[in-house]
Amino acid sequence: MIARVIYAGYIEHDPWGVTRRKGHHEPIISLATFEKIQERKNARPIAAAKQNIHADFPLRGALSCACCNQPMTACWSRSGTGKRYPYYWCQTRDCSQYRKSIRAEKIDAGFEELLKGLTPSQNLLSIVTSMLSDAWDQRAGQRDNGKAQIKRDIAQLDKQQDSLLEKLVDATNAKVVTAYESKIAKLEDEKLLLSDKLTQNSKPKYSKAEIFELLKTFLSSPWNIWEKGNLLLRKNVLRLALKEPLAYDRENGFRTPQVSEIFEFFEIITSKCEMVRVGRLELPHLAAPEPKSGASTNSATPAT
Ligand SMILES: [Zn+2]
Repeated sequence: MIARVIYAGYIEHDPWGVTRRKGHHEPIISLATFEKIQERKNARPIAAAKQNIHADFPLRGALSCACCNQPMTACWSRSGTGKRYPYYWCQTRDCSQYRKSIRAEKIDAGFEELLKGLTPSQNLLSIVTSMLSDAWDQRAGQRDNGKAQIKRDIAQLDKQQDSLLEKLVDATNAKVVTAYESKIAKLEDEKLLLSDKLTQNSKPKYSKAEIFELLKTFLSSPWNIWEKGNLLLRKNVLRLALKEPLAYDRENGFRTPQVSEIFEFFEIITSKCEMVRVGRLELPHLAAPEPKSGASTNSATPAT
Protein backbone atom coordinates (compact mmCIF):
# COMPACT_ATOMS: atom_id res chain seq x y z
CA MET A 1 0.00 0.00 0.00
CA ILE A 2 1.18 3.46 -0.83
CA ALA A 3 2.49 5.15 2.27
CA ARG A 4 5.06 7.52 0.86
CA VAL A 5 4.34 10.97 -0.36
CA ILE A 6 7.05 10.46 -2.97
CA TYR A 7 4.54 8.64 -5.18
CA ALA A 8 2.52 11.82 -5.37
CA GLY A 9 5.51 13.68 -6.81
CA TYR A 10 6.56 15.22 -3.50
CA ILE A 11 9.47 14.78 -1.18
CA GLU A 12 9.69 15.12 2.57
CA HIS A 13 12.12 13.92 5.18
CA ASP A 14 11.54 14.96 8.77
CA PRO A 15 14.93 13.86 10.19
CA TRP A 16 16.68 16.31 7.86
CA GLY A 17 14.09 19.00 8.40
CA VAL A 18 12.93 18.72 4.78
CA THR A 19 9.28 19.70 4.85
CA ARG A 20 6.90 18.51 2.15
CA ARG A 21 7.69 20.08 -1.23
CA LYS A 22 7.32 19.32 -4.89
CA GLY A 23 9.99 16.95 -6.19
CA HIS A 24 11.52 16.97 -9.66
CA HIS A 25 10.10 13.59 -10.57
CA GLU A 26 6.85 12.58 -12.31
CA PRO A 27 4.08 11.85 -9.82
CA ILE A 28 2.33 8.47 -9.99
CA ILE A 29 -0.77 9.69 -8.18
CA SER A 30 -2.14 13.07 -7.17
CA LEU A 31 -1.49 14.44 -3.70
CA ALA A 32 -5.22 14.43 -2.96
CA THR A 33 -5.39 10.74 -3.92
CA PHE A 34 -2.39 10.08 -1.70
CA GLU A 35 -4.11 11.75 1.26
CA LYS A 36 -7.29 9.77 0.54
CA ILE A 37 -5.36 6.48 0.46
CA GLN A 38 -3.84 7.28 3.82
CA GLU A 39 -7.32 7.87 5.23
CA ARG A 40 -8.72 4.68 3.75
CA LYS A 41 -5.87 2.41 4.75
CA ASN A 42 -7.67 1.07 7.79
CA ALA A 43 -11.16 0.89 6.31
CA ARG A 44 -12.76 -2.58 6.13
CA PRO A 45 -13.31 -3.74 2.56
CA ILE A 46 -16.70 -5.08 1.39
CA ALA A 47 -15.32 -7.75 -0.89
CA ALA A 48 -12.51 -9.78 0.58
CA ALA A 49 -8.94 -9.47 -0.59
CA LYS A 50 -7.95 -11.41 -3.69
CA GLN A 51 -6.17 -14.30 -2.06
CA ASN A 52 -9.01 -15.46 0.20
CA ILE A 53 -11.87 -15.36 -2.24
CA HIS A 54 -12.46 -18.24 -4.57
CA ALA A 55 -14.56 -18.46 -7.71
CA ASP A 56 -16.61 -21.22 -6.05
CA PHE A 57 -17.59 -18.81 -3.31
CA PRO A 58 -18.04 -15.43 -4.95
CA LEU A 59 -19.99 -14.14 -1.94
CA ARG A 60 -17.25 -14.90 0.54
CA GLY A 61 -16.19 -11.62 2.11
CA ALA A 62 -19.52 -10.02 1.30
CA LEU A 63 -21.51 -12.28 3.59
CA SER A 64 -21.85 -11.89 7.34
CA CYS A 65 -23.57 -13.99 9.98
CA ALA A 66 -26.84 -12.27 10.98
CA CYS A 67 -26.32 -13.49 14.55
CA CYS A 68 -22.82 -12.19 15.31
CA ASN A 69 -22.32 -9.79 12.39
CA GLN A 70 -18.94 -11.37 11.62
CA PRO A 71 -17.91 -12.50 8.12
CA MET A 72 -18.90 -16.04 7.18
CA THR A 73 -16.41 -18.38 5.64
CA ALA A 74 -16.95 -21.09 3.03
CA CYS A 75 -15.64 -24.48 2.08
CA TRP A 76 -16.44 -27.72 0.27
CA SER A 77 -17.83 -30.33 2.56
CA ARG A 78 -19.38 -33.82 2.36
CA SER A 79 -23.05 -34.37 3.01
CA GLY A 80 -24.45 -37.51 4.72
CA THR A 81 -24.52 -39.32 1.38
CA GLY A 82 -20.85 -38.59 0.80
CA LYS A 83 -21.42 -36.12 -2.00
CA ARG A 84 -19.37 -32.92 -1.94
CA TYR A 85 -21.23 -29.64 -1.53
CA PRO A 86 -20.13 -26.04 -1.13
CA TYR A 87 -21.11 -24.57 2.24
CA TYR A 88 -20.94 -21.27 4.07
CA TRP A 89 -20.66 -21.15 7.83
CA CYS A 90 -20.12 -18.82 10.78
CA GLN A 91 -16.62 -19.05 12.20
CA THR A 92 -17.15 -17.09 15.41
CA ARG A 93 -16.55 -19.45 18.31
CA ASP A 94 -18.95 -17.87 20.80
CA CYS A 95 -21.74 -17.39 18.23
CA SER A 96 -24.80 -19.64 18.49
CA GLN A 97 -24.45 -20.32 14.75
CA TYR A 98 -20.81 -21.39 15.01
CA ARG A 99 -19.96 -24.06 12.44
CA LYS A 100 -23.63 -24.53 11.50
CA SER A 101 -23.23 -24.88 7.78
CA ILE A 102 -25.56 -23.49 5.15
CA ARG A 103 -25.67 -24.92 1.63
CA ALA A 104 -24.14 -22.44 -0.80
CA GLU A 105 -26.95 -23.09 -3.29
CA LYS A 106 -29.49 -21.88 -0.71
CA ILE A 107 -27.52 -18.68 -0.19
CA ASP A 108 -26.94 -18.27 -3.94
CA ALA A 109 -30.67 -18.60 -4.63
CA GLY A 110 -31.44 -15.99 -1.97
CA PHE A 111 -28.81 -13.71 -3.41
CA GLU A 112 -30.24 -14.10 -6.90
CA GLU A 113 -33.62 -12.98 -5.62
CA LEU A 114 -32.06 -10.09 -3.73
CA LEU A 115 -30.03 -8.87 -6.69
CA LYS A 116 -32.96 -9.21 -9.09
CA GLY A 117 -34.92 -7.10 -6.62
CA LEU A 118 -32.43 -4.30 -7.24
CA THR A 119 -33.40 -4.07 -10.90
CA PRO A 120 -35.15 -0.76 -11.54
CA SER A 121 -37.88 -0.29 -14.11
CA GLN A 122 -36.85 1.27 -17.45
CA ASN A 123 -38.89 4.32 -16.57
CA LEU A 124 -37.16 4.81 -13.22
CA LEU A 125 -33.78 4.20 -14.79
CA SER A 126 -34.32 6.92 -17.38
CA ILE A 127 -35.54 9.37 -14.71
CA VAL A 128 -32.51 8.70 -12.53
CA THR A 129 -29.95 8.79 -15.34
CA SER A 130 -31.32 12.09 -16.58
CA MET A 131 -31.07 13.45 -13.02
CA LEU A 132 -27.49 12.17 -12.80
CA SER A 133 -26.75 13.74 -16.15
CA ASP A 134 -27.92 17.13 -14.85
CA ALA A 135 -25.85 16.63 -11.72
CA TRP A 136 -22.84 15.79 -13.89
CA ASP A 137 -23.18 19.06 -15.83
CA GLN A 138 -23.67 21.01 -12.65
CA ARG A 139 -20.55 19.44 -11.19
CA ALA A 140 -18.55 20.43 -14.26
CA GLY A 141 -19.65 24.02 -13.68
CA GLN A 142 -18.73 23.81 -10.01
CA ARG A 143 -15.32 22.47 -10.94
CA ASP A 144 -14.56 25.63 -12.87
CA ASN A 145 -15.75 27.79 -9.98
CA GLY A 146 -13.74 25.63 -7.62
CA LYS A 147 -10.54 26.32 -9.53
CA ALA A 148 -11.07 30.05 -9.29
CA GLN A 149 -11.61 29.68 -5.54
CA ILE A 150 -8.44 27.60 -5.14
CA LYS A 151 -6.45 30.32 -6.88
CA ARG A 152 -7.86 32.91 -4.48
CA ASP A 153 -7.03 30.65 -1.51
CA ILE A 154 -3.44 30.23 -2.69
CA ALA A 155 -3.07 34.00 -3.03
CA GLN A 156 -4.40 34.36 0.50
CA LEU A 157 -1.89 31.81 1.84
CA ASP A 158 0.89 33.66 0.01
CA LYS A 159 -0.08 36.84 1.77
CA GLN A 160 -0.11 35.15 5.16
CA GLN A 161 3.31 33.65 4.47
CA ASP A 162 4.71 37.03 3.44
CA SER A 163 3.53 38.68 6.59
CA LEU A 164 4.93 35.84 8.73
CA LEU A 165 8.25 36.11 6.92
CA GLU A 166 8.40 39.82 7.71
CA LYS A 167 7.78 39.06 11.40
CA LEU A 168 10.34 36.26 11.29
CA VAL A 169 13.03 38.63 10.03
CA ASP A 170 12.40 40.96 12.97
CA ALA A 171 12.10 38.23 15.60
CA THR A 172 14.97 37.71 18.02
CA ASN A 173 13.56 35.20 20.49
CA ALA A 174 14.52 31.64 19.43
CA LYS A 175 11.16 30.16 20.47
CA VAL A 176 9.28 32.78 18.49
CA VAL A 177 11.47 32.13 15.46
CA THR A 178 10.74 28.39 15.63
CA ALA A 179 7.02 29.04 15.96
CA TYR A 180 7.06 31.29 12.91
CA GLU A 181 9.09 28.77 10.93
CA SER A 182 6.73 25.92 11.66
CA LYS A 183 3.71 28.07 10.84
CA ILE A 184 5.30 29.03 7.51
CA ALA A 185 6.02 25.36 6.73
CA LYS A 186 2.42 24.48 7.54
CA LEU A 187 1.17 27.15 5.17
CA GLU A 188 3.52 25.78 2.52
CA ASP A 189 1.93 22.33 2.95
CA GLU A 190 -1.53 23.76 2.50
CA LYS A 191 -0.37 25.65 -0.57
CA LEU A 192 1.15 22.50 -2.11
CA LEU A 193 -2.07 20.61 -1.59
CA LEU A 194 -4.03 23.36 -3.26
CA SER A 195 -1.68 23.81 -6.21
CA ASP A 196 -1.69 20.07 -6.72
CA LYS A 197 -5.45 20.14 -6.98
CA LEU A 198 -5.10 22.92 -9.50
CA THR A 199 -2.60 21.14 -11.74
CA GLN A 200 -4.58 17.93 -11.80
CA ASN A 201 -6.26 17.12 -15.02
CA SER A 202 -9.78 17.77 -13.87
CA LYS A 203 -11.26 16.35 -17.02
CA PRO A 204 -12.52 12.80 -16.34
CA LYS A 205 -10.62 9.98 -18.03
CA TYR A 206 -13.73 8.81 -19.83
CA SER A 207 -16.34 10.87 -21.59
CA LYS A 208 -19.72 11.46 -20.07
CA ALA A 209 -21.31 9.30 -22.78
CA GLU A 210 -18.95 6.39 -22.03
CA ILE A 211 -19.52 6.56 -18.29
CA PHE A 212 -23.28 6.79 -18.67
CA GLU A 213 -23.31 3.85 -21.03
CA LEU A 214 -21.49 1.75 -18.42
CA LEU A 215 -23.69 3.05 -15.65
CA LYS A 216 -26.88 2.17 -17.54
CA THR A 217 -25.60 -1.31 -18.33
CA PHE A 218 -24.84 -1.95 -14.69
CA LEU A 219 -27.93 -0.32 -13.22
CA SER A 220 -30.39 -1.84 -15.65
CA SER A 221 -29.51 -5.29 -14.39
CA PRO A 222 -26.80 -5.99 -11.82
CA TRP A 223 -28.04 -9.58 -11.89
CA ASN A 224 -27.24 -9.91 -15.56
CA ILE A 225 -23.63 -8.90 -14.94
CA TRP A 226 -23.39 -11.17 -11.92
CA GLU A 227 -24.73 -14.15 -13.80
CA LYS A 228 -22.51 -13.77 -16.84
CA GLY A 229 -19.48 -12.12 -15.29
CA ASN A 230 -16.21 -13.55 -14.04
CA LEU A 231 -15.08 -13.28 -10.43
CA LEU A 232 -13.67 -9.79 -10.88
CA LEU A 233 -16.90 -8.47 -12.36
CA ARG A 234 -18.86 -10.17 -9.62
CA LYS A 235 -16.73 -8.51 -6.98
CA ASN A 236 -17.37 -5.19 -8.67
CA VAL A 237 -21.11 -5.84 -8.62
CA LEU A 238 -20.88 -6.42 -4.86
CA ARG A 239 -18.88 -3.24 -4.36
CA LEU A 240 -21.18 -1.13 -6.49
CA ALA A 241 -24.45 -2.47 -5.15
CA LEU A 242 -23.74 -2.83 -1.44
CA LYS A 243 -22.66 -0.54 1.32
CA GLU A 244 -22.08 -3.30 3.87
CA PRO A 245 -21.68 -7.07 3.87
CA LEU A 246 -24.98 -8.94 3.54
CA ALA A 247 -26.25 -10.43 6.77
CA TYR A 248 -27.59 -13.98 6.36
CA ASP A 249 -29.73 -15.87 8.82
CA ARG A 250 -30.09 -19.68 8.58
CA GLU A 251 -33.81 -19.55 9.25
CA ASN A 252 -34.91 -16.35 7.58
CA GLY A 253 -32.35 -15.88 4.82
CA PHE A 254 -30.99 -12.49 3.88
CA ARG A 255 -31.68 -9.44 6.00
CA THR A 256 -32.67 -6.27 4.16
CA PRO A 257 -29.42 -5.28 2.44
CA GLN A 258 -27.63 -2.02 3.06
CA VAL A 259 -27.53 -0.97 -0.58
CA SER A 260 -25.14 1.57 -2.02
CA GLU A 261 -26.10 5.22 -2.46
CA ILE A 262 -27.24 4.79 -6.04
CA PHE A 263 -29.73 2.04 -5.16
CA GLU A 264 -30.81 4.02 -2.11
CA PHE A 265 -31.49 6.84 -4.52
CA PHE A 266 -33.66 4.51 -6.62
CA GLU A 267 -35.66 3.61 -3.52
CA ILE A 268 -36.16 7.27 -2.62
CA ILE A 269 -37.29 8.16 -6.13
CA THR A 270 -39.60 5.13 -6.23
CA SER A 271 -41.27 6.06 -2.96
CA LYS A 272 -41.59 9.72 -4.07
CA CYS A 273 -43.14 8.63 -7.37
CA GLU A 274 -45.46 6.37 -5.42
CA MET A 275 -46.54 9.29 -3.22
CA VAL A 276 -47.22 11.44 -6.28
CA ARG A 277 -49.14 8.61 -7.94
CA VAL A 278 -51.27 7.94 -4.86
CA GLY A 279 -51.82 11.68 -4.39
CA ARG A 280 -53.03 12.07 -7.97
CA LEU A 281 -55.43 9.17 -7.68
CA GLU A 282 -56.93 10.54 -4.53
CA LEU A 283 -57.14 14.11 -5.74
CA PRO A 284 -60.36 13.84 -7.82
CA HIS A 285 -61.93 11.95 -4.96
CA LEU A 286 -61.02 14.60 -2.39
CA ALA A 287 -61.87 17.50 -4.69
CA ALA A 288 -65.06 15.92 -5.94
CA PRO A 289 -67.90 18.39 -5.62
CA GLU A 290 -71.54 17.31 -5.62
CA PRO A 291 -71.92 13.82 -7.10
CA LYS A 292 -73.89 13.98 -10.34
CA SER A 293 -76.97 11.84 -10.21
CA GLY A 294 -77.06 9.07 -12.81
CA ALA A 295 -73.39 9.46 -13.81
CA SER A 296 -71.83 6.65 -11.81
CA THR A 297 -69.10 5.59 -14.26
CA ASN A 298 -66.44 6.85 -11.83
CA SER A 299 -65.10 3.95 -9.83
CA ALA A 300 -64.36 6.17 -6.81
CA THR A 301 -67.21 6.18 -4.34
CA PRO A 302 -68.36 9.74 -3.56
CA ALA A 303 -67.78 10.63 0.07
CA THR A 304 -71.33 11.75 0.84
ZN1 LIG B 1 -22.18 -15.97 13.86
